[in-house]
This record gives sequence, structure tokens and C-alpha cells, in this order.
Amino acid sequence: MAGKKDKKIIVGNWKMNPNSQVEALRTFESIKKKAGKLRNVQTVICPPAIYLSSLGKKVTGHRCVLGAQNTFWENKTGSFTGETSADMLSGVGAEYVIVGHSERRAIGEDNKVVGKKLISALKAGMNIILCVGEQERDNDGEYLRFIAKELVIALNDIPRRYCLNVIIAYEPIWAIGKDAERPATPEDVHEMSIFIRKVLSEVVGKDFAMTIPILYGGSVNPKNSQAFLESGGIQGLLVGRASLKAETFNKILEQSNETSVS
Ligand code: PEP
Repeated sequence: MAGKKDKKIIVGNWKMNPNSQVEALRTFESIKKKAGKLRNVQTVICPPAIYLSSLGKKVTGHRCVLGAQNTFWENKTGSFTGETSADMLSGVGAEYVIVGHSERRAIGEDNKVVGKKLISALKAGMNIILCVGEQERDNDGEYLRFIAKELVIALNDIPRRYCLNVIIAYEPIWAIGKDAERPATPEDVHEMSIFIRKVLSEVVGKDFAMTIPILYGGSVNPKNSQAFLESGGIQGLLVGRASLKAETFNKILEQSNETSVS
């Protein structure tokens, strides 16, 4: 994968946690200490936007960097109450941004909005992590058409050179969060990674498609992370709950550092 060769990309999505800046700093410092020692892992921590600025001051080096959980589609300053632009996020140290997380889609973000956010973040020089994932699996392959549509609408209009800053996170909704039915299996993920790569080839061309890392997210923990990396055909993980405690997340980082991807 261009610029990220052989490094597994391990992203921690803290969602709306923790409740205080002191705790955010403590957790980040502990993750950074571990991540700084791992050559084969690119660690990206996505805290709530309110903590980005203070955590940004603690970033040293490139092994453990910051991402935002959301952005706005307009990059000019203006009358957009409550919104934060990609320029602003990048200005306080976020190098990555998650776009189209299912929890944001659930509160009204559609594929078009996701596409607009993606373009503005890419223009601001950020790396984007585009989340795609189906609500449920059916026997007619409808879920595959759903994923293809999410990818096509989001990526169709981006200038091809921006593909080098695109990461796809496959996050089946049924496998995410504390109410998850179950994590996906490495076989589920492998099959989907092949499908996503095929759709990417159709949308951005084979050469660019091959540069785009694919991550898996959904109930990843220290017990299953290695199997996803070894057999899922993916280049990294997007971790929610298991990224909130440094001790747990650090185990995933350590294991990922030791694991060869397929
Ligand atoms: C997520 O919401 O991005 C996620 C992967 O959550 P969890 O790991 O908690 O299922």
C-alpha cells in the first residue's frame, strides 16, 4: 500500500469517551509509549474533537498520530454553527479523519454527504478512513450491492491522485458495539476485502485500487485481532471499545506488530 507499505494501520475510535481531558491524556500517553516501539504498526487514535488540540501537543514522531471522528464538508470559514472543518482539525494535529461511520449515518448522514466530507478532508491534506458496512446479510447478495453503492457514491468524483490518502474500513453494523450479534469471522472479512478491492478497481482503476488499505472494524479485541490480520486479507483494524483502555489496546498493537498480513 502506497506510503504505508507493510505497516498495519491500527485505528482506535474512542467515540464519545473518555469523560475528562486528564483521562484522555493519560490513556494517549500510555498508548503512545507502546506504539512508539512498534515498527510494523501505524497507530492512529481518534479522540473526541475537543481533546485533539491537547493531545496534538503530545504527538512526537510518526508512529502514533491523531485522527478526528468526523468533519464538515465546507472548508471555508462561515455560518455553520457547531461544525468543524477539515482545515481546523488538521490545524490542531489530526492527520486522519473517519468519514461515514455507521453511527453518523444512523443520525442522517447519507452517501452524498459522506462524499462531500471526504473531498473536503482530502483537499485539506488529511488521510480519510471511509467506513462502509451493511446492516445485515441476506441470501440474495443485496448487502454486496449496498457496500458497492457506498463506495461508488463516495469515491466516484475524487481526483485519482487522492486515492493515496484513502483507507476503507469495512465495518458491518451487525458486528459493531456492545449489542453486536457477533464479530465477523476472518472468512467473512476475507470475502468482503476481495469484493471491496474489486469495486475499488472499477471505480478508481486497478493501480490506484491496489494502493488503498482495507481495515476491518467490529468487536475487535486482543483475542481475535491476530486472526483478522492473518486471514482477513486486510491491512489493519478499526477498534472501538477495545481502544478505550490502554492496556487492552496495547495488546492489540503488540500482536499486530508481530503478525504478517496475508
Ligand atoms: C466502531 O464503532 O468503529 C467499532 C469498531 O466499535 P467496536 O470495536 O466497539 O465494535
